[in-house]
Amino acid sequence: MPLELVTIPCLKDNYAYLLHDAASGEAALVDAPEAAPILAALAERGWALHQILLTHHHPDHVDGVAALVAATGARVLGAAADAHRLPPLDRALSDGDTVEVAGSLGHVIDVSGHTMGHIAFHFPADAVVFTADSLMALGCGRLFEGPPDTMWRSLTRLAGLPGETTVCSGHEYTLGNARFALTIEPANPALQARAAAVQAARSEGRPTVPSRLSEELATNPFLRAHLPALKAALGMEGASDVEVFAEIRRRKDVF
Ligand code: ZN
Ligand code: FE
Repeated sequence: MPLELVTIPCLKDNYAYLLHDAASGEAALVDAPEAAPILAALAERGWALHQILLTHHHPDHVDGVAALVAATGARVLGAAADAHRLPPLDRALSDGDTVEVAGSLGHVIDVSGHTMGHIAFHFPADAVVFTADSLMALGCGRLFEGPPDTMWRSLTRLAGLPGETTVCSGHEYTLGNARFALTIEPANPALQARAAAVQAARSEGRPTVPSRLSEELATNPFLRAHLPALKAALGMEGASDVEVFAEIRRRKDVF
């Protein structure tokens, strides 16, 4: 039974996601930037929130938890490694654990790099992964806590999921990411086409997330650091994949 997915814009440029099972009426939330738009989305549909899945400790992903728990009694699940800096957890998760939303299993993947302890949730039967600030549409999160090799390993794991997987990331940063990506691979036709589509979507106020993993693989420079063509474009033919990834991330930090 596939879960229904709803994308909820929050704050200035964050996204939260609701997963809903029509048969049981159960709903789960991934990340809680603020309570009001999420409570409104639940009320509008008559859904009951059972669980809140947290990806990482940053305030723009957890600040709505207390109010949502108070209003709904939902259980809170998040990384064991971050338990000391997340809202109180009902269940602490580690890489390889599974969560369950109305019978659909979500695999917990450690995607540290943006923060140490950042996790993603992959629901293989629904072909969806919640990546927040690890893998983002045409980008990846800043390396606030982890070294480049940690983020590269995290992104490589996500890149290995099936290409049809829907990637639900945490922010509407795609337009800026597209402009930057074009500085890395100006001659990539898939990137040119996607950048134009992103531009059109944003000018009409439409979200650019979720995206599809196959399109990230074809266009997201942070998933392409291992490719000879990309290394050549940067004049880094002899460099390791991690060195090239680190260079792309460094350039984005000052873009
Ligand atoms: Zn973050
Ligand atoms: Fe964030």
